This record gives sequence, C-alpha cells and structure tokens, in this order.
Amino acid sequence: MPRVLILGGTGDARRLAGLLVNSYDVVSSLAGRVRSPLLPPGDVRIGGFGGVAGLAAYLDGFDAVVDATHPFASQMSSHAAAACSVAGVPLVVLQRPGWEAVPGDHWVRVPTVADVVPVLSWRRVFLTTGARGLDAFAECDQWFLIRVVDPPSAVLPPHSSVLLARGPFTYEDEVALLRSHRIDVIVTKDSGGHATYPKLAAARSLGLPVVMVDRPPLPVGVATVGSPGAAEGWLRQNL
Ligand code: NAP
Repeated sequence: MPRVLILGGTGDARRLAGLLVNSYDVVSSLAGRVRSPLLPPGDVRIGGFGGVAGLAAYLDGFDAVVDATHPFASQMSSHAAAACSVAGVPLVVLQRPGWEAVPGDHWVRVPTVADVVPVLSWRRVFLTTGARGLDAFAECDQWFLIRVVDPPSAVLPPHSSVLLARGPFTYEDEVALLRSHRIDVIVTKDSGGHATYPKLAAARSLGLPVVMVDRPPLPVGVATVGSPGAAEGWLRQNL
C-alpha cells in the first residue's frame, strides 16, 4: 500500500486518516501541543521533526504528504513544502475554506494576532484565538474570557478568566455564554469549518462585533484541496 504522512492536529486530518486507513499505509503526525489529543485511526507519531532537514530525512519511504495542519500552523506548512521539495515527495495541502461575513455580521479583519490589540475598543472580550499568541494581550486593561483547550502557560491579561473547553460548540450554548459574561466583542482566528462557527452566528444574532484574524499565506506553488474527500481524490489521481 502507498505510504502517506498526514500532518495533523485538526478534525479534517482525523477525518482524512479515517478515509485512507484501509487503502493506504497512513501515519498521522501531531505536534504534541495538546495534553490529551483526539487520535486519528492508523499509526500516529507525536512531536516535531527537527526542522526541514529532520522532516526531509523522516520522509524516506513515504509516497506522499498531506499537510492537514491548522491554517495558522504556518511554520509547519512552510517546513513541509521545503522538506517535500528536498525529498522529492509529492505534497498536497488540505485547508478548509475560511469564513465569510454574511449580512448582519460586523467583522473587523486584522492581519495577525498582534494587530488585534490596537483595534480593541470594547470592554469585555471573548478571546478564542488559542493558546499561542496570548502574550500579545498581557498588558491590556479589558476584561477577557479566554477559551482554550489546555491551561495556558502565557502571561495573561490582569483581568481575565480562563474557560477550558474543546469544540464543537452549539449556537445555543454560545449565545448563553456571551450573554452570561456580558461580552462586547469576540476575537477569533479565521479558522473556518463548522465546529467553532456557532460563536459567529451567536455574535450576529446578539449584534456583537467580531475581530477576525486573517490567515497567514500558504507556501507558493503547492497543490491545495478544501476537504478530506478532495484530498483522498488527489492521492488517488497522483499516486
Ligand atoms: P507551527 O507554529 O506551524 O509549527 C511549529 C513547529 O511545531 C514545527 O516547526 C514543527 O516542529 C512542530 N509541528 C507543528 N505541527 C506539527 C505536526 N502536525 N507534526 C509534527 N510536528 C509539528 O505550529 P502550531 O501553530 O504551533 O500548531 C501546532 C499543531 O497544532 C499543528 O499540528 C496544528 O495543526 C495544530 N493546531 C494549531 C492551531 C493554531 O491556531 N496554530 C489551532 C489548532 C490546531 P519541527 O520544526 O521540529 O518539525
């Protein structure tokens, strides 16, 4: 069976492993950031590769790589592109589409997490940008509700409360959360997908603004698909 490395850490990566596991020799790779990760079917390895050179060496014996990392895992994606080029292994990026505002949404788009602070003119902030980058808010005066999967190690803003939770979340629960904490604004990355979209629908119905952090660019010239099914199709065509 062709041997495929899935760079994971996302729900789509787990779904892809499930689609491939009977027809391919699948290894899923996780960074090891989350204490109790949800594991995909098939073989799993955990931890960094040691940069581009380490990944290029690891790829010996693999027939293809699917970069199904989170859209904001830009270092891993750039390492994957460079290592696959060095090792001569075909690469496809699986990245779900980003979110689009619809009528009734009040979104402010910013290029990076660091660009959020200057636009934060609201008092009570629901911060859902994940554990990385929290340091950017350490000096902020606002009150923050910070939702993360594991307890954060970053220096937190002086007025904040941490909510440990892992999606998917429901619209009803998100509305109740926003109301009970009297939230004025939501800050999120443009992660895309359904699991964490209900907070955006809840913001719309409550008339709340959203600060949306744009995705970093993908490596240039890499084949890209938007769903696990499309990634499976790409592998069928290219292996
Ligand atoms: P990153 O900044 O792009 O990568 C930093 C380093 O972590 C990489 O150079 C690599 O180390 C290692 N790494 C990252 N993903 C890996 C993987 N799937 N397998 C093995 N090593 C990996 O990554 P990140 O933003 O910290 O994200 C880490 C993981 O969390 C990713 O798997 C991503 O899918 C998931 N995730 C990220 C976010 C987010 O907002 N960034 C959100 C949800 C899930 P070496 O250089 O040593 O190889």
